Amino acid sequence: MRPRLYRRAFLRLAAIAWLAGACSHALADERRVLVLYSLGADSSSAWQRLVHKGMYDELERSSQGATPAIFEERFDANRVGEDKSQEGMAPYLATKYADVKFDAIVTENFVAARFLSSHPELFAGVPRHYVNHGRDQWLPRDGMGYEVSSDFERAIGVIPLVAPNVRHIAIVGDKTSRGQLWLERIRSVTPRFPKIRFEFWDDGNVDDLRQRAARLDRSSAIFMLASLRGEGNARIQPRELALQISAATKAPLFTHSESLVMPGVAGGYVVSGEAVGRMMARLLLGQPAMTSQVQGYYFDYPTARQAGLRNIPPDAVILNRPHNVWELYRWQIITAGALIVLEGMLITALVLSLRSRRRAMCELASERNSLEDRILQRTLELLQANRKLEQLATTDPLTGIANRRKMTEQIAQELERARRFHHPLSLLMIDIDHFKRINDTYGHEVGDQAIIQTATLLTANLRAVDMVARFGGEEFVLLMPETHIAVAVHAAERLREQAAGMRVRTECGVEVQLTISVGVAASDRHGAPDTPSSLLVRSDKALYRAKKEGRNRVVQF
Ligand code: GH3
Ligand code: MG
Ligand code: MG
Repeated sequence: MRPRLYRRAFLRLAAIAWLAGACSHALADERRVLVLYSLGADSSSAWQRLVHKGMYDELERSSQGATPAIFEERFDANRVGEDKSQEGMAPYLATKYADVKFDAIVTENFVAARFLSSHPELFAGVPRHYVNHGRDQWLPRDGMGYEVSSDFERAIGVIPLVAPNVRHIAIVGDKTSRGQLWLERIRSVTPRFPKIRFEFWDDGNVDDLRQRAARLDRSSAIFMLASLRGEGNARIQPRELALQISAATKAPLFTHSESLVMPGVAGGYVVSGEAVGRMMARLLLGQPAMTSQVQGYYFDYPTARQAGLRNIPPDAVILNRPHNVWELYRWQIITAGALIVLEGMLITALVLSLRSRRRAMCELASERNSLEDRILQRTLELLQANRKLEQLATTDPLTGIANRRKMTEQIAQELERARRFHHPLSLLMIDIDHFKRINDTYGHEVGDQAIIQTATLLTANLRAVDMVARFGGEEFVLLMPETHIAVAVHAAERLREQAAGMRVRTECGVEVQLTISVGVAASDRHGAPDTPSSLLVRSDKALYRAKKEGRNRVVQF
């Protein structure tokens, strides 16, 4: 048991010791690097800004947690001048970093590169990486040189490719040694473009350049080197110069530096500041770096479009491309579109159903109206028919006066009235004498004519309140409300006389005479109340007596 326990304790201790060693080794392993920039602040140089950004992007991307400790120093060459800025820089750095052991030093540009190479005593033994964009043929003796120089053959060559109409290119440079070096190199490649006439604008001030640029049209192009104009405070930086020239001309502007690709300068085959920065990051991380990867086609989207550039290489980097709304909001647009379509369909369906409903309501209303009209019409017809029927039922067809039925009703009504108001009521029963003889002698038609004429006679003598009816064959009843029997007898006598004076004319011109007999009765106001039949019976009895007594006479019951 014992030896095993010891062995386990020993193994545990060994593991702890190994872990502690690994940690301290990792701490000691952290890289420390120094970056020397030529300019004071990134804000004073678009180029330096790009380099800085590219370097940090790449460090973040590829260091994978092992980011070196980065120390940065700046010469501010723009403000104090290349030479002056170096005075005092060496003792300053030596003092400041006396206790820091760097793993690598990288320079961002020529100013810093030349400074470092002229001070071999600084940071002895630390690997030096001279990124020296801007000076050809300069080779450091005490480190690795990374010559980042523009490929002007491609930088110029891309112009006729993307703008085939261009026959003339104006190269804008300056009188600095760097500017002259670039112009020299461009001159050496111009013979490869025999169809293009070249002009070199390294003299003149900004106004001169603007005037010259204003005279150019679309058959010309301007190639902007990263060049300056003016001195000291009046010095105009490359971007500002490019913007002023672009504002003055119709000709498209091209360049060899990413720092000048912006709205106003279409772009071209350029040295990329960000790519240089990425290369510096790889140097700082101790990785191999290739200068061949720092150039490429870069174009400013709106300017290239406006200049109508074609054949832009497919691998070109396009800057300032507007956000593609479709790509960004595709699903929102599709959803919104679908919703709009759906809503439109719903609204259409609603409108259609409302319309058909309204139509149905209209049809229903008109149907109801016509139905009502028809009912009204039918009701009227029915009323008329009823009236006709009523009339037929109460009228004698031969004479057109009331019939027996109507008279019986009337007698009942008048009896009731007479009883209620204690008024007299008389009734005449009238019969044509020996009517059979008339029929027999002259024929039925003459008989009919006699009946009609007698009815006419009776009607003509009526008062407003009286009523006459044909009661049977040649028998009539005359009802006389508000009439005492004496008055009725008198009226009956007058009628009898008139009938006797009446003539009925036959077809053959013979005039037939006739007489009537009348029985008169009145309602009994003292005895039991009369009914129509009791009154009729009494008047009939009076008539019977008139017949019996010889006819053509009036008899009162
Ligand atoms: P009397 O004086 O007793 O009344 O004698 P009369 O001949 O009038 O006798 P009665 O009243 O019995 O005869 C009535 C006749 O009237 C019998 C019938 O042929 C005839 N008559 C009834 N209705 C009509 C009619 O509508 N037209 C014609 N032409 N004759 C009718
Ligand atoms: Mg009779
Ligand atoms: Mg008779």
